[in-house]
Amino acid sequence: MNREFYFGLTDQSLSGKILDTETCDQILTSPDIDVLPLLNAAYEIRKKYHGKVVSIHIINNTQNGYCPEDCHYCAQAKSSQANIEEYPIKPDAEILAEAKQAYESGAFRYCMVFAGRGPSTKRTEHLAKLIREIKATYPLEVCVSAGLLDREKAQVLKDAGLDRLNHNLNTSEKNYPNICTTHTYEDRLNTLKAAKDVGIEVCSGMIVGLGEKAPDIVEIAKKLREVKAKSIPINLLVSIEGTALKEKTKLTPEYCLRVLCLFRFLNPEAEIRIAAGREIHLRDMEVLSLYAANSLFIEGYLNTKGSSRLKTLTMIRDAGFTINSDQDLTELLNNETSSTLTQALDEKELFLKNLRDLRPFLEKNVINSARKGG
Ligand code: SF4
Repeated sequence: MNREFYFGLTDQSLSGKILDTETCDQILTSPDIDVLPLLNAAYEIRKKYHGKVVSIHIINNTQNGYCPEDCHYCAQAKSSQANIEEYPIKPDAEILAEAKQAYESGAFRYCMVFAGRGPSTKRTEHLAKLIREIKATYPLEVCVSAGLLDREKAQVLKDAGLDRLNHNLNTSEKNYPNICTTHTYEDRLNTLKAAKDVGIEVCSGMIVGLGEKAPDIVEIAKKLREVKAKSIPINLLVSIEGTALKEKTKLTPEYCLRVLCLFRFLNPEAEIRIAAGREIHLRDMEVLSLYAANSLFIEGYLNTKGSSRLKTLTMIRDAGFTINSDQDLTELLNNETSSTLTQALDEKELFLKNLRDLRPFLEKNVINSARKGG
């Protein structure tokens, strides 16, 4: 594709136009579209709305397991045999201590995730109390993910000061029955509607790798534009042993970057978050995701670990980005003294090859057998 094609993507997106379906499909699949100019086109949009700032999110798995739903990808589902540490909802003091730690780690937003179909009235009031306490103590934005909600419960959370409600669409309407049978795509959309009706910002995204095709991804990106999702987490499936769903779609780093760019073109102002699976699926290309996405998680995900805090903060700093926090990025990095990476960089042998590296065939018998043609 020529330069005009890429400029056109930026221009259309910035002028509020929705890219046509054929172009969207091409972005995901066409070998004629190169990823670097595509990222550059997405970056122009990211820069306009989010500058060079990265919002850091820290997730708190406030209740692990005990979920009656059967989302096939989820380690906490009733159908899952995954070897997770189950626990009921954490005590309030523990949740507050983790909010403090998140704030001190540079988090802009603190996300509390509660497994389950949806909260009871009593649980909703409990969540409201927690939200009030956190908001009164730390200058953190608070996001809750608590399953299906109706308008009344959403209002209780809104009154408590909830900034955002997370409820991912996860996949397309057509693919939804393949990943869950205990609730529907429409149930999920209704929860988003309830949140919007009472004025809570919507955070909703997807999991790439659930057996969907390119048109499914385009549909989700357009649906999230339609519901005006302020925040869009893009997860890349982390296939957990014991869950019902094995990785169905082979993801490559390049494909994952194309997905992020597509979401940026279709949702130019949204906070697009590269979420679970970035380390596994983007690998050495991870830093490039920041040119389309403007947000990420540190300290891992719900049930899986991620890169160390130091590694992620270093990646942000080295690419010339900064963070959306009243904590200073350089100071945060300086404080990270206990990380294994720091230790490794201090090790002399990381830089200087030893004899075994330089002469792997030094062992006499290996050289002798080579001489003899053995
Ligand atoms: S994704 Fe949420 S609702 Fe689905 S099984 Fe996991 S915890 Fe339950």
